[in-house]
Amino acid sequence: DLSVADAAVKPAKTLPDAQTVTAVTHWSDTLFSFRVTRPASLRFRSGEFVMIGLPGENGKPILRAYSIASPNWDDELEFYSIKVPDGPLTSKLQLIQPGDEIILRPKPVGTLVLDALLPGKRMWFLATGTGLAPFASLMRDPETYERYEQVIMMHTCRTAEELNYGRELVENLRHDPLLGEIYGEDFAKRLLYYPTTTREESPFMGRITDNLTSGKVFEDLGLPPMNTENDRAMVCGSLAFNVDVKAVLEGFGLREGANSDPKEFVVEKAFVGEGV
Ligand code: FAD
Repeated sequence: DLSVADAAVKPAKTLPDAQTVTAVTHWSDTLFSFRVTRPASLRFRSGEFVMIGLPGENGKPILRAYSIASPNWDDELEFYSIKVPDGPLTSKLQLIQPGDEIILRPKPVGTLVLDALLPGKRMWFLATGTGLAPFASLMRDPETYERYEQVIMMHTCRTAEELNYGRELVENLRHDPLLGEIYGEDFAKRLLYYPTTTREESPFMGRITDNLTSGKVFEDLGLPPMNTENDRAMVCGSLAFNVDVKAVLEGFGLREGANSDPKEFVVEKAFVGEGV
């Protein structure tokens, strides 16, 4: 019976909130990015996160929080993910291929949104590891450059390889012909990139907190030290990173804001737990 054979090989579209994977890129043993179809009804603010996942053994979905790495104008959704060796979700998620389905709950939320900050001159995006993801969205949103004269992306990882997704994304943006057309040839000066490693030797090393408190990053980029009037910041990393950066920003006089109470900086966890 042909129809039975057919039904047996065709993947059944039975997942609720299913979206189809369109592309997967592996950046290292521990990092990958992927793109999925976007539900027609999904609206979000660049910087927000959603719950995504896969069906579990018992049919109950394994869902985790993921920052949307693509900007809100993109037809598809992009995610940037860790591969935790025994992680309930990522041990399986790292195996996805184009054509596979994932679950995506279309309810975006989060604190890393432009509306949570007061107007200013410079926007600092401060991230470790996959904490880059919300900024991959915000850096690609023209609204960011409408609101701020300059954007500085500070990203810290253990090794140079772990910086590659962000590095490629920023370099492509800085030399994007369309952005150049809209914002002028010196658009590259409006998006500054300051990647550092903590373990592997590289041209720039060290923790974000140390490079801010020592003033090294201001010297290297030719910028004045952070001040309440001109500088705004968004922070996304491990809990320890967030706590340390918050103290440094407060040292410059910046205050933590929220959606309902915009101030000079906002913070969000990149994951729950100790992390790497
Ligand atoms: P889990 O059981 O969830 O985690 C196992 C352990 O791995 C954790 O205890 C922690 O120590 C470590 N870990 C988990 N996630 C990370 C990470 N990203 N980096 C380093 N160590 C980690 N993860 C992403 O990869 N990309 C994202 O964009 C992203 N956005 C998030 C946004 C929010 C608001 C939160 C709270 C978490 C986010 N996470 C993100 C983490 C994500 O929700 C999962 O924890 C991760 O996918 C691992 O899932 P798991 O089931 O394999 O392991």
